[in-house]
Amino acid sequence: MLVFATETSCDETSICVMEDDKIIEHITFSQEIHVSHGGVVPELASRSHLEKIQNITNSLFFKKNINLNDIDVFAATCGPGLIGSLLVGSTFTKSLAVSLQKPFIPINHLEGHILSTSFNNNIEFPQLVLLLTGGHTQIYLMKEENRLELLGESIDDAIGEAFDKTAKLLGLPYPGGVEIEKKAVNGNEEAFILPKPLLKDQSFNFSFSGIKTHINLLTKKNKIDEKFVSDLSASFQRNMSQILIEKLDQVITKLNNIKITSISIVGGVSNNLYLRSKLENYFANRDIEIYYPLKEMMADNAAMIAWACMKFYNEKNSDLFFKPNPRLKVRSVL
Ligand code: ZN
Repeated sequence: MLVFATETSCDETSICVMEDDKIIEHITFSQEIHVSHGGVVPELASRSHLEKIQNITNSLFFKKNINLNDIDVFAATCGPGLIGSLLVGSTFTKSLAVSLQKPFIPINHLEGHILSTSFNNNIEFPQLVLLLTGGHTQIYLMKEENRLELLGESIDDAIGEAFDKTAKLLGLPYPGGVEIEKKAVNGNEEAFILPKPLLKDQSFNFSFSGIKTHINLLTKKNKIDEKFVSDLSASFQRNMSQILIEKLDQVITKLNNIKITSISIVGGVSNNLYLRSKLENYFANRDIEIYYPLKEMMADNAAMIAWACMKFYNEKNSDLFFKPNPRLKVRSVL
């Protein structure tokens, strides 16, 4: 089966052609237009998708010598995300499906991330899924392959957002996550004690917006020099890793009647090597295997959308009238 998928939920214009379990071609264009604004500007994002998507699609089909008619199924991200951006990708992909009279499968962006590790790993269940992105921070329990239970999530800023906002307060360029990681290498991670909101809470939810407020106060009280930026970046990363590990530990303790065998760590923030090493240390002694997606399936990408379509494709799921939804929820049964 040959799938053509698009992903335009935020600021990456991404397309992929996948044949069964093989990526034939995958192109992701990261919009740089937002850098000078210090964050994603929704209107600019949708215009940029519109300018780019047709060109990269043409070049993909030309380069791989594929005829549009060869595509069996079309799939696109239909939420959650920025509505203007979702509309561009989903309408473009639906139009191709209509013109060729082929099925169109709407895909939930978060389900794409969640399923991404099953492309390159043999997943053992029950597993936990830790989703770390610019828009979401969530912990799921996957008792079996297509059953999902949301255990907890951030009630305000997502983890990637917290990284970006902290970077902005420290005068670092957007996207800030990578900049924080670079600065932290030379910093003293014990220099600042930062808050850990909701840590003693009975839920498995996160809250990150108070940390940003605390850092804002620190930047007003201190001179923002190289040492301050490095020390604060290191302390911030350490604080985030401790919050994640503490919450996961609470989850594992509370679910003690379920033998968790693995955890999938997905989403763009899972590229952070410091967070990874801390999580790996924690899980190493607990007989819990960690799965990561392929590097090209970590940040926002169309390959995970193609894979989600491939995994659960059924002609009955074709829906040309599916309305993109900026707050689309993950299903409990996929
Ligand atoms: Zn994402």
